Amino acid sequence: MKHSLSPLLHNAAFDAMGLDWVSVGFEVHAGDVPAALASMRALGIAGLSVTTPHKEAAAQSVDELSPLAQALRAVNCIVRHDDRLLGDSTDGEGFVLALRHEASFDPAGKRCVVLGAGGAARAVIRALADAGAARVTVVNRTHERAVSAAAVAGALGRVGSDRDVDEADLVVQATPVGMAGAHGTSGSTESMGVGRPATSGVAENEALVLDPDLLRSGQLVADLVYHPPVTPLLRAAGERGANTMGGLGMLVHQAALAIERWTGTPAPVEEMWRVAREAPRRS
Ligand code: NAP
Repeated sequence: MKHSLSPLLHNAAFDAMGLDWVSVGFEVHAGDVPAALASMRALGIAGLSVTTPHKEAAAQSVDELSPLAQALRAVNCIVRHDDRLLGDSTDGEGFVLALRHEASFDPAGKRCVVLGAGGAARAVIRALADAGAARVTVVNRTHERAVSAAAVAGALGRVGSDRDVDEADLVVQATPVGMAGAHGTSGSTESMGVGRPATSGVAENEALVLDPDLLRSGQLVADLVYHPPVTPLLRAAGERGANTMGGLGMLVHQAALAIERWTGTPAPVEEMWRVAREAPRRS
């Protein structure tokens, strides 16, 4: 939970929107997702933002899935309509918005390589395909998961290897490798409502998921990890002349999209960006 900036972003947005809402983070342990969602109904919580590793369990526990969440079998955003919970996914759209706004990169016609095949990777793979990418190549440690993730892109998806990185216009790092402080087995579900402080964390991982000498100028290298803002891979990519984009933009845009689903009102993205940029310096 420590690694999540989402409550901070949500609350900054609610303040800027003049809404008397509050977002609070909750630690939810494996197996407790159905109970957490039952609490959402019982407590009248309007929306939930779901983080790793609970996105698939959340998809199985809501009453209804958006077509996208159905295709991904993962949910990062839940909206309550009376007693029914609708599961949706804003990660992929948030990533593509970040590409467009923060890196001036349009995926249309581009060759993309995604490193990783988990929930976030699948959302990005689908969003890149929907945005008109020429090809989405999935490179992952576990082959079967790569096959399943590539299928999310339909005819545009394929399974590849590190050798495919050289010809890519966009390389997306979608594993936790390089993330500081917290990841893994406990995870978290965030909610809007009344909460309690929670802690989790493992040692910082300074490893690289890819040999950085495979990266080159003319490429955009995007890392979904947002803490640290410049990951070891992005630093190495920049040193080799590639353009780089950290994970903060995706975090801000997926949170803004979630707020829009919860409130039906456009979110103040600039204010959320301001808070996101300042947050790492405060921690
Ligand atoms: P996940 O579902 O647990 O998937 C993790 C993926 O990373 C799997 O494909 C796994 O490979 C691979 N992986 C894990 N450790 C690895 C290692 N040491 N070497 C090589 N591959 C490894 O996680 P997720 O939900 O997709 O999240 C992935 C990352 O994206 C996390 O750091 C998360 O914080 C970040 N994220 C950021 C945002 C944002 O808004 N910026 C949003 C969502 C997620 P196997 O299949 O072989 O296990």
